[in-house]
Amino acid sequence: MSSTVYIALGSNLDDPSAQIHRALTALAHLPQTELADCALWYRSVAVGPGTQADYINTVVRLHTELAPLDLLHALQAIETAQGRTRTQHWGARTLDLDILLYDDLSLNTEELTLPHPRLTERNFVLAPLHDLAPELTLVNSKGIERSVKQWLANCGSTGIVQL
Ligand code: ATP
Ligand code: CA
Ligand code: CA
Repeated sequence: MSSTVYIALGSNLDDPSAQIHRALTALAHLPQTELADCALWYRSVAVGPGTQADYINTVVRLHTELAPLDLLHALQAIETAQGRTRTQHWGARTLDLDILLYDDLSLNTEELTLPHPRLTERNFVLAPLHDLAPELTLVNSKGIERSVKQWLANCGSTGIVQL
């Protein structure tokens, strides 16, 4: 039985649109995985240290038979292949791939937290996720339960534009 997974893609370095295109191709070629759907693309103002270029963001839905950690490692390999370097926390990057949701799995290990802990606070992730799954229920760290649509309304649309 395959699992349904949502992945957030983000890039703000070295031709972000090309990076996202390349990442989508790489995701489509993951083993034991089907790329089911891709949200619209968004431009968002960077959150993080210093002045950074805007991000391109989107979200995909995958069906996969990869276990959560195997999927994370496969995503990290794609990031590395696209020149991701890990210097400054939340610094500019060619590619960021975060696992937002893996079925309804809750996990809290050093390497992997599911659902992604900052998902309900980020409009640049919620907006594309809303394209694919507006009625999906998300619970935040305080145990508050709302749909993607409600969390997005709660965040507002400051700093993001649909492309
Ligand atoms: P943020 O997590 O706030 O979006 P970031 O994406 O910039 O920040 P990274 O430097 O890309 O953070 O990743 C730091 C670590 O987060 C990774 O090494 C990975 O082990 C861990 N991690 C924990 N949960 C997840 C998840 N759901 N998806 C991806 N990485 C995760
Ligand atoms: Ca991230
Ligand atoms: Ca990340």
